[in-house]
Amino acid sequence: MYRWITTRNTNIVQLTETLGQAYAIIDKDNNTLLYDTAPRFLLPQLQQSLKKLSQTHTLNICAIVLSHLHHDHCANANHLANKYNCPVFCHPESVQILQHQDDFSSQQKNKYRNNIQGVNDGEILNLPHNAHCKIIHTPGHSYDSLCLIIDDEICTTGDALMGLHTHERKTDPAENFEQSVQSWKKLLSNTDPSRCLLFLPGHGYPIQRKQLEQNDYLLEKIQAV
Ligand SMILES: [Zn+2]
Repeated sequence: MYRWITTRNTNIVQLTETLGQAYAIIDKDNNTLLYDTAPRFLLPQLQQSLKKLSQTHTLNICAIVLSHLHHDHCANANHLANKYNCPVFCHPESVQILQHQDDFSSQQKNKYRNNIQGVNDGEILNLPHNAHCKIIHTPGHSYDSLCLIIDDEICTTGDALMGLHTHERKTDPAENFEQSVQSWKKLLSNTDPSRCLLFLPGHGYPIQRKQLEQNDYLLEKIQAV
């Protein structure tokens, strides 16, 4: 499992593979937030990763944040929210959609439905208590895209940066490309250049801040908006 550690001693661990990367954000007291929940077929891998992590951390999974409602990011939210009895945070406009989804297989579905909370741009989550987790609304790929800046150092991005790589441009499934570009600009300006140096996407490799700042395609698009 790939792992990054902030200077506040928050561990960020990649739980699943590139078809849908979910992350565990573990504060110094092992309070843990899950960012995304991977596609359904990766649930066993996600559970195996959590089991492995529990050998070294006494995990207290206290919250789930969904980057957006595409299946490869949110499919296991129901199962995990019930299992850990924790709230699910998502964009306010997605709360009702989640509440009315048909695939609630758990017998405790009402508990899960009551535990879905909308979070807004700039909001600081109070979970996990010892990590600083800031929500950034980054529409474009999807209207409800939420990134999470952890301890002002590392940003989990879901699919917000999708479309930046050459191989993605022809098939970029952005709902609104202009909004995507605005969000790329926002992410670069919302993060302190001296500190937030790394972006962890929902698919593929981590992206260094300097890679974004030197990405000619990104710079060209940002200058045009
Ligand atoms: Zn997506």
